[in-house]
Amino acid sequence: MSAVLSFPTAQDEIISYNPATREEFGRAGCASVEEVRAAVQKSRQAFEKWKETSFKERARFVMRAREIILDELDEIARLISDESGKPIAEALSMEIAPVLDLMQYFARNAAKILKPERINIGLYATMGRTSKIIYKPLGTVGIIPAWNYPFSIPLGEAVMALMAGNAVIVKPSELTPFIGLKIGEIFEKVGLPENVLQVVTGDGRTGAALVDAGIEKIMFTGSVATGKKIAESAAKHLTSVVLELGGKDPMIVFADANLKLAAQGAIWGAFCNSGQSCSSVERLYVEESVAEEFTELIVEKTKRLNQNSGDKETTDVAAMSSERQIKIVEDHIESFRNEGAKILTGGKRNANLKGAFYEPTVISNATNEMRGMREETFGPTLPIATFKAEQEAIDLANDSDFGLTASVWTGDLEKGRRVAEKILAGTVCVNEVLYTHGIGQTPWGGFKQSGYGRTHGRHGLMELVAPQHIHVNRALLAPNAWWLPYSPLAVETFRGFARHFAGGSLRQTIKLAPQLLKRIKELRGK
Ligand code: NDP
Repeated sequence: MSAVLSFPTAQDEIISYNPATREEFGRAGCASVEEVRAAVQKSRQAFEKWKETSFKERARFVMRAREIILDELDEIARLISDESGKPIAEALSMEIAPVLDLMQYFARNAAKILKPERINIGLYATMGRTSKIIYKPLGTVGIIPAWNYPFSIPLGEAVMALMAGNAVIVKPSELTPFIGLKIGEIFEKVGLPENVLQVVTGDGRTGAALVDAGIEKIMFTGSVATGKKIAESAAKHLTSVVLELGGKDPMIVFADANLKLAAQGAIWGAFCNSGQSCSSVERLYVEESVAEEFTELIVEKTKRLNQNSGDKETTDVAAMSSERQIKIVEDHIESFRNEGAKILTGGKRNANLKGAFYEPTVISNATNEMRGMREETFGPTLPIATFKAEQEAIDLANDSDFGLTASVWTGDLEKGRRVAEKILAGTVCVNEVLYTHGIGQTPWGGFKQSGYGRTHGRHGLMELVAPQHIHVNRALLAPNAWWLPYSPLAVETFRGFARHFAGGSLRQTIKLAPQLLKRIKELRGK
């Protein structure tokens, strides 16, 4: 077994910065179109052997990679924190721990999930036929993640793709290339066969080259605008794409909820990762009768949050990933102000810190008409609106172009489930918020502009394989009644098919037997 890692040798460079200090973190290559093509070619060769490995062999590599991550736990957490800006606590709790769990789950269960499946083909079985589905790997899977969960998202998807028998190329975000390269290094250390997993650093052009390389699958996580470009470009090659895009996720708090718990949930849901989660709480709807009490709780708790650089263990809210992202937050806060909402706390950069820090911000008097309630903010902001009745809350939550996740908070679980089922989002939690991307067993993905396709769970694994139907006819004595040539007898038999066989009832179909025998006799004579 030899090395897996592919460091681009391009002359172009991308520069990564520590968002907390604004200092240069490092420089990585920016792979050109030719280099991406070369990586794809190597990937195709590697795939030919990798697809023949057993699930057990694949699982061994994945479980060894887990061990490496555990051995280097603090070092990796620090790398994630330094390059992406997030608190070390979240690097551990929201990236490393969940992906370790995902790794063990798919290492242990991929074989079971992708086991060949016998299909019940109803009356066709009475004619001596059998059908089964086998799941074949696709080939090369390209993973293009965003910068906000730069370790867990690409690593989780890579593990699933590898377990399914695919070769993988990861193109990390230009903001977090070294976290991407770390994923390659981990698999290099476990001796994954060469080029089965490659990491190709670069910017949007490198990502575009990967999409344009005619590979078998693209797993994309990012903005709606880039997602649409990718879908368009992938269509030229009929490359299938999973799009995990933006969100504007609603949280509905009913008056009968445990308000203290809901307030804690809201604060974590809105401010963890500085609000830069696709499933961040970006719209909070609270029942009017408790709105004042609930808002006070939120403001009081928000004011107590400790904002500092991510490397400190006591940091609650750290730096944002980039200047570009802070500017979007500033723009939305400005528009909230201009449209009549009230900023209750925050609403500005943190002047005591020199990096990309925006204070956790709570906004009241928000309405769905405001721009900040419609466009994705992706920052530490929590706009609060009110409602009077259950149906109004549902309507407000659904009044969005996005549909990634949502949450409903109530002491009445039946009401919680009822409301959850009426919300148009890929995941709806009752008395929980945001964290379900961390459950590797459950599907992740959105409705509407939040994208299509799924990652994680059985549905996510199925995105990474092609189901192949193997159909066998064990009755080798007679031709099929529907074969050529046709005749009046044939047409009469087919009428019988439509009337009896197609009803799915054996008793009805038996009525066809004399006709069928005549027809088969007719065909035998031809
Ligand atoms: P972008 O769409 O800007 O970038 C996403 C990735 O695509 C990056 O790796 C980027 O590379 C790459 N890229 C950029 N242009 C192209 C192109 N033309 N062809 C191929 N690849 C390209 O998104 P952000 O990185 O800003 O991520 C934030 C977005 O991601 C938010 O909308 C957020 O909601 C969403 N997201 C969705 C999740 C989900 O599960 N639904 C999870 C996490 C985030 P580079 O960075 O080098 O330009």
